[in-house]
Amino acid sequence: MNTCSAFLADTHCHLMLSDFDQDRSQVLARAREAGVNRLLVPGLDLATSRSAVELAEQHPHVFAAVGVHPHYAETWNNVTQTEFRMLARSPKVVAIGEIGLDYYRNLSRPEIQRAAFKAQLDLAAELERPVVIHNRQAIDDIMDHLLTWSMDLPPRLDGKAGVLHANSADLETAKIAIARGFYIGVAGPVTYRNAQALHQITGQLPLERQILETDAPFLAPHPNRGKRNEPAYVRLIAERFAELHSISLTEAATKTSQNAINLFNWNHENENSHIL
Ligand SMILES: [Zn+2]
Repeated sequence: MNTCSAFLADTHCHLMLSDFDQDRSQVLARAREAGVNRLLVPGLDLATSRSAVELAEQHPHVFAAVGVHPHYAETWNNVTQTEFRMLARSPKVVAIGEIGLDYYRNLSRPEIQRAAFKAQLDLAAELERPVVIHNRQAIDDIMDHLLTWSMDLPPRLDGKAGVLHANSADLETAKIAIARGFYIGVAGPVTYRNAQALHQITGQLPLERQILETDAPFLAPHPNRGKRNEPAYVRLIAERFAELHSISLTEAATKTSQNAINLFNWNHENENSHIL
């Protein structure tokens, strides 16, 4: 690996999942060694959102998002909503997510997914937290929801509405999302040799609107494809991202970390850390 003096942020890693039960502290230590000094852990349902918040409360550099993933949309109800409001009292809860639509696997019925998605977008506006968006073969419906939602946001979310996580939208759609205050999440697939369309999109989108993520334990970057992913590997994504933008690894790390800090309001946390 190249040398790099700047810090990295992994803006999407599911460290609360049982995949990490055996070695979570080593995984966190390896992330630190790789220069990853901010991690965002999004929940997938109420139980995993709770575990994400617990993990964040234990580690100064770990933050949480709470949300019901479209796969589990059928678990969304008033109780979940009330619990999320309570969890969001923690300053470590910096986003609502991951939420969205998944018409590829359709593990929950589409109309149930849409209802849970809309309710959680409204909750995010109420709590003044950005959203972490999951999309799979549902970009048109997602954009419909986001365009409506983003027309009337509290000032705190101005230009910081959320992130299209592990973006697979085309260039035009990504640009529209950016114009509405969204960031674009760049994940492991950008390191795959055959992902030429994604390489082009990533290279053409503005540097100041992209953030890096692993989506661990899923989507491991090359050359670890197929293995369990972990936050330390965000560095592999940063290296490819730097190449695609013809900038140094240090600049890629600095810019994308700063973007993540802006989006998730990380400025006031961790006074003792030495990012930038
Ligand atoms: Zn995820």
